[in-house]
Amino acid sequence: MVLPIFGYGYPLLKKRSVNIDKNYPDLKILIRDMYETMYNASGVGLAAPQIGKGIRLFIIDTSAFDNEEFELNSGFKTKSVKKTFINPEIINESGDLKLFEEGCLSIPNIRESINRKSEIKIKYQDENFNIHQDSFDGIVARVIQHEYDHLEGVLFTDKISPFKKKLIKGKLKNIMTGKVPVDYVMNFFKNQS
Ligand SMILES: [Zn+2]
Repeated sequence: MVLPIFGYGYPLLKKRSVNIDKNYPDLKILIRDMYETMYNASGVGLAAPQIGKGIRLFIIDTSAFDNEEFELNSGFKTKSVKKTFINPEIINESGDLKLFEEGCLSIPNIRESINRKSEIKIKYQDENFNIHQDSFDGIVARVIQHEYDHLEGVLFTDKISPFKKKLIKGKLKNIMTGKVPVDYVMNFFKNQS
């Protein structure tokens, strides 16, 4: 089932999410619905707060970037990784800082260049709550960093300069009030009772 994606302005998007355990109700269905929602919106990552749940869970699928053209334009080595991260904890970020233009399904029609380190080490649990520790780089690290930020209550618009933030203030307000064209289902903050 495709779930509505919560737009910029919802207080939940600015809150730190909480860990879950095996007893979290209907987790398998939730994860399946999140993949469906992400693909329906042509996204490469989706975090639980974006569908209105303040829990430490996100998914990624970077296969859309797995082509030569992207590699040439971005300077990133591409790699397809489809993975579910539960209770993740970034242990270390290293490597060069790299600027890359990011977007977000909760903040449609805005893209900004964000500086992030190029390598990460992350500990997380999979769908079966088995513990893993992996290192990622390139576009995969970038997508994970963006989704991980969602669990910390941080949006990419929090990472731009005050000057740039001022420039997009009007656009952000339009997203809050639903005055933005999107081709997927969203919950806009104005609809909150
Ligand atoms: Zn996002």
